[in-house]
Amino acid sequence: MSPKKDWNRTGSCTLDIERTYPEVFDMIIVGAGPAGMTAAIYGARRKMKILLVCGNVGGQMNYCNDIENWTGVAQSTGPALRDQFFSHVKHVDKDNAHFDLWVREKEKVTDITKKEDIFTVNTEAGKSFLAKTIVCTAGKKPRVLGIPGEDIAMNGNGLSFAATSDAPLYKDKKMVIIGGGNSAMDVALQLENFTDDITITTNLDHLIGESCLMEKVKKSPHIDIKYEVQTKEILLDKKDKVRGVTITEGDSDEFDLECEGIFEEIGQIPATQFCKDLVKLNERKEIMTDRLCKSSCPGFFAAGDCNDGYHKQVIVAAGEGAVAALQAHEYILKQE
Ligand SMILES: Cc1cc2nc3c(=O)[nH]c(=O)nc-3n(C[C@H](O)[C@H](O)[C@H](O)COP(=O)(O)OP(=O)(O)OC[C@H]3O[C@@H](n4cnc5c(N)ncnc54)[C@H](O)[C@@H]3O)c2cc1C
Repeated sequence: MSPKKDWNRTGSCTLDIERTYPEVFDMIIVGAGPAGMTAAIYGARRKMKILLVCGNVGGQMNYCNDIENWTGVAQSTGPALRDQFFSHVKHVDKDNAHFDLWVREKEKVTDITKKEDIFTVNTEAGKSFLAKTIVCTAGKKPRVLGIPGEDIAMNGNGLSFAATSDAPLYKDKKMVIIGGGNSAMDVALQLENFTDDITITTNLDHLIGESCLMEKVKKSPHIDIKYEVQTKEILLDKKDKVRGVTITEGDSDEFDLECEGIFEEIGQIPATQFCKDLVKLNERKEIMTDRLCKSSCPGFFAAGDCNDGYHKQVIVAAGEGAVAALQAHEYILKQE
């Protein structure tokens, strides 16, 4: 019998887990971005017993300002598309009482092991779950500099990584953006709606990215660009709030640049630490897969930004999520 489900107002699903969890899931999906949510829908339609465990619902879609390349929807935002995806997951669940889908939100997987064809998935909540197959869709997380002050600053003290959600917090503040690619430029243009004192700092002597973004950034009277700059430290005041950055510019000595908020936009790394001993990773720490999302470990599939596919897009991730779930289903049929 399916567990009793309680989809709450924020779109989370809380379940009576202790009473109703199966001993062994058919498929555990790690992550609920476009790849994970699509895998859940496809897996549910194959009548698999599924656990979807994720740090958050939406993944990187939570940070996307405009999305204009999801077929059939000319213009949307990341959060709006996330809500559509998640209500589809809920719809599948609600309309078909016999679908067996469990969701655990705000819970990260810490490691996965395999013994005699069964995977054990351990989470930071101290829970362990068993599964016949894994669909890993853990995506990517922001790269950090690893400099003094960063850990404290990112703990709600003025260092942000997502302009879509955080830009409004910095109304009329003096801002520094670290990075010189598309994301840094996108953040600068979003911040312009809230403040007119923005400095982009990049370690290169030029910006990298789409020409239309570059044009807009260079033309803006509110955005200053400092090239060939290294950020050495994030400076904090007595209350641990961001008060500036220490930088070196070209061959000059270190000096401080005052600011009240910082965005770090220096790229992203795949969230694959928890399975690094189970599957083969490439030099960028992405899970190596074939066209059917199969990893080096039988029964372990990887879809979306965490695998070694070249194009990192919502539509690609969603497509691969479908492939991975269908392959997981086929794998189980062949095992039986
Ligand atoms: C600023 C920005 C703008 C973008 N704009 C566009 C755009 O316009 N169009 C477009 O097509 N694409 C865009 N992208 C790219 C797109 O968002 C990604 O390609 C897509 O979200 C990847 O989906 P995914 O499901 O593979 O992973 P993600 O979206 O990264 O989701 C990963 C999921 O895994 C979970 N997770 C991670 N680690 C763990 C763990 N240990 N345990 C449990 N759960 C875990 C996360 O919480 C999350 O739920 C943009 C990305 C960014 C950052």
